[in-house]
Amino acid sequence: MSHNSLDEYLSKRDFASTPEPDASDKRPTNGNGHLFVIQEHDATSHHFDFRLQVGDVLRSWAVPKGPSTDPRERRLAIPTEDHPLGYADFEGVIPQGQYGGGTVLVWDAGQYHGLETDDGGSPLPLEQQLEQGHATFWLEGSKLKGGYALIRNGSYNDRWLLVKMDDDEADARRNPVNTEPESILSGRSLAEIAEEEAPAREVATAGAHSSSS
Ligand code: MN
Repeated sequence: MSHNSLDEYLSKRDFASTPEPDASDKRPTNGNGHLFVIQEHDATSHHFDFRLQVGDVLRSWAVPKGPSTDPRERRLAIPTEDHPLGYADFEGVIPQGQYGGGTVLVWDAGQYHGLETDDGGSPLPLEQQLEQGHATFWLEGSKLKGGYALIRNGSYNDRWLLVKMDDDEADARRNPVNTEPESILSGRSLAEIAEEEAPAREVATAGAHSSSS
């Protein structure tokens, strides 16, 4: 069941060197819904990580241009490895040289629910929707609201599109990726997180060295 495995996540990271959560960081899941989070990630190539809770992991896509509120925009979304639920409020600096090295900002988060039903009218689990290569869901975020679709692009398994559905929350004039850059957790910008998180880690490393000598 590769979709529920965190093996790839764990194997890519050295938890002695990165402040990212390991898989033992299990948060109690909120019983009345499912979590989504969008993290801006200023890595080698700047992108937004779009994550949806499916079961007890966060299914993840890297979206180079970030999400749009304009239904005419189709944003490329490249699947990446499942992340642990504890990643949803990770904000900080992944050291250079580590996988994904760079600054991470929690750009938006909230609850979502799937929008598709089976022939009998029961909600279709998101995992099943994703399996079919076409998922629609409603986001209740601070910045993003309304229906979105994730669509597998033809025969390419590694190419999906993230598209705003044409509903009352659609707005071609908004461009929140540019106009609302701050973290919803801390109000900080990427530059502020980079400045405030990186030095603290160097001090901690220096302290560890001196105490072991
Ligand atoms: Mn990333």
